[in-house]
Amino acid sequence: MRKKIVAGNWKMNLNKLDAVELFKSLESSVYPPDVEVIIAPPSIYLDSFSNASNLKIASQDVSQNSNGAYTGEFSSEMLFSINLRFAIVGHSERRVFHNESDEMIFNKVKSLLNNGLTPIFCCGESLDDRNNGIQFDVVNSQLSNILNNLSSSDLEKLIIAYEPVWAIGTGLTAEPSDAQAMHSYIRNTIANKFTTKTSEQISILYGGSCKPANSKELFSMKDIDGGLIGGASLDSNSFLAIVNSF
Ligand code: PEP
Repeated sequence: MRKKIVAGNWKMNLNKLDAVELFKSLESSVYPPDVEVIIAPPSIYLDSFSNASNLKIASQDVSQNSNGAYTGEFSSEMLFSINLRFAIVGHSERRVFHNESDEMIFNKVKSLLNNGLTPIFCCGESLDDRNNGIQFDVVNSQLSNILNNLSSSDLEKLIIAYEPVWAIGTGLTAEPSDAQAMHSYIRNTIANKFTTKTSEQISILYGGSCKPANSKELFSMKDIDGGLIGGASLDSNSFLAIVNSF
């Protein structure tokens, strides 16, 4: 049975007081025992939340380098040393605003795996890609480094998040059937390269304007194992409602 996961990406939101308030409310909530709940606060707060027991804490990013003269960055080893075990990589906002290439993102994945962390690997097409009918090719190419260069045992440690860029923060959500088609495509691509057993083990999350009004339908799809939630993760009631949508 694949893990059901809901991960909240707070992005660059909330001052410390508001972040602590939201963290406390989520940390003291009761969750379904079969759902893993992850939050990714801004990196400046990670160390103060890393003692959470009811929640898993993720970084929103990590350096591809292991140490040295990289001002402003932090490494996988540093994240591990403050008890973090998850990090988001390849979010479209990093790809677009920070020019992150597939190669750089793959280096981040490798660095996380080498240091005992689980990468939450994001992929997804732009609106132009979808309008041109090339969404499967785009996602395939974003996946190619991890599929061509990781062993099956490493790949099985990944969480994949399919996030169509046109749905992130826009209020537009993929139709559940379209999201399911992409999740199934990703799983089949993994099965063809590795085995069905490997592909069946990997949780694939949907992200892109997921909210209580659409999470139930999305999560009922065969290959959608949960969500990566942006805006709706900043409100504890909305986030809890999404966690309870399976
Ligand atoms: C995200 O940034 O990963 C995301 C899915 O954002 P939103 O839910 O706000 O679309």
